[in-house]
Amino acid sequence: MAVAARERPLLVAGDWVETGEWQEVRSPYSGELVGRIAKAGADLARRAVDAADQAMREPLPAHRRAEILDRVAHLLAEREDEVAETICAEAGKPMKAARIEAQRAVSTYTVSAAVARTLAGEMIPMDASAAGAGKLGFTMRLPIGIVGAISPFNFPLNLVAHKIAPALAAGCAVVLKPASQTPMSALLLAELEHEAGLPAGWLNVLVGKASEIGDVLVEDERVRMITFTGSSGVGWDLRARAAQKKVTLELGNSTPVLVEADADVEDAAARLAQHAFSFAGQSCISVQRIYVRREAVDTFLGAFVPKVEALKVGDPADAETDVGPVIDAGNKERIAAWVEEAKTQGATVLAGGEEDGLLRPTVLGDVSPEMKVVCEEVFGPVCTVTPYDSLEEAFALANGTKFGLQAGIFTGSVQTALRAARELEFGGVVVNEAPTFRADQMPYGGVKASGNTKEGPPHTVREMTEERLVVLANAV
Ligand code: NAP
Repeated sequence: MAVAARERPLLVAGDWVETGEWQEVRSPYSGELVGRIAKAGADLARRAVDAADQAMREPLPAHRRAEILDRVAHLLAEREDEVAETICAEAGKPMKAARIEAQRAVSTYTVSAAVARTLAGEMIPMDASAAGAGKLGFTMRLPIGIVGAISPFNFPLNLVAHKIAPALAAGCAVVLKPASQTPMSALLLAELEHEAGLPAGWLNVLVGKASEIGDVLVEDERVRMITFTGSSGVGWDLRARAAQKKVTLELGNSTPVLVEADADVEDAAARLAQHAFSFAGQSCISVQRIYVRREAVDTFLGAFVPKVEALKVGDPADAETDVGPVIDAGNKERIAAWVEEAKTQGATVLAGGEEDGLLRPTVLGDVSPEMKVVCEEVFGPVCTVTPYDSLEEAFALANGTKFGLQAGIFTGSVQTALRAARELEFGGVVVNEAPTFRADQMPYGGVKASGNTKEGPPHTVREMTEERLVVLANAV
């Protein structure tokens, strides 16, 4: 299976625009050309903001926004093969995972349509105080304005969907800048929105130098909100530079999970073996740090390591492949160097190595909290296994990084699960499932360096709308 290399212009003001300059997209697995994308600069970015501004002057009623979102969901489902093949080709994501991403995007659009249909303010009980007696009060939820959206390479379809579908549900026009390594899925999604009847200017897609396009989004006052998913450094810097805008950040993690001795330890091992390594660990909530009650370590490793070694490493286009390449040679070198550094600091390798030029799933033991493979985000097929003797120790280890996106615990005790929910300093705590779990309607987002918001259409639409209070005097 290979997606024929194609040329993709950019969508601005409802037109497919060529700029005379092209940017290549190549397969992270084979290096083959996947596509050539028109390259935008600051001028086209400003035209895109003009188009979004123009579009928002004629608001789309909620029923039309919902109909378009439903149509996109339908088109995505109808064209699942093409969508999954595009993700696989440009990101090197195995087809198994690419199909799941395509299916999840359908649900992101379906939920966004439902939110568009039910978006409303609330009644205020004005006569609850003497000051309000005789008055009628309610709120309206109004679109915040133009949204600048910046997305990462690792979920090139569904994380774009998580920005542009809620924006349309909220009634906001968007200027989108997808990751340079994976812009094809975003442009395919734009094509589907166009086909679904989205009027000109509501979605504009720019590919090009990140800082140039980013600067326009930061500096243009008409862009009222920036929604960013990506690495912590870039995200917090954008927020600092765009002090007068709303800037919502979905950033990285070093995902911990605890395995208690009263859990179904073999079930935990099976789930974690799969979720530490799907898409070669390049998910923001890929399992990276596994903490196991000391008395359960032998049982855990006895089940975990063979399952990790059985994962099929190879061509992402092969339907049987579990683990493909990481996104580029630079990241492969960085990940291998972090593993080597951990080894020199005393870590032992329980599984790992290379196969046909790809990093094999790597499991490290005897690690310590200051090693990069523990305290930084690896974003590659590497996890660590560490024993603990008490829950206090396990919570301290899990909380001991700058990150706080999502964490997990396997336990047979409801009390322990609820204690973990309180004591793990993360945006989400998952019990008896790998913490890589995400359903698209749930509020998903981090604390500490991992972010400042929750994404998921109902929550994103709240961020993308403003509450307007209306008070009517002499109304009752
Ligand atoms: P990245 O390097 O931070 O890039 C993310 C996006 O920011 C890309 O579109 C990139 O454009 C753009 N960008 C880079 N510099 C910029 C600047 N100065 N101004 C404006 N935009 C700029 O992240 P990545 O490597 O693509 O993605 C991996 C990271 O994303 C990991 O840390 C992962 O944990 C995080 N992530 C978080 C979530 C979540 O929901 N919390 C989900 C997925 C991924 P170019 O591609 O053109 O450089």
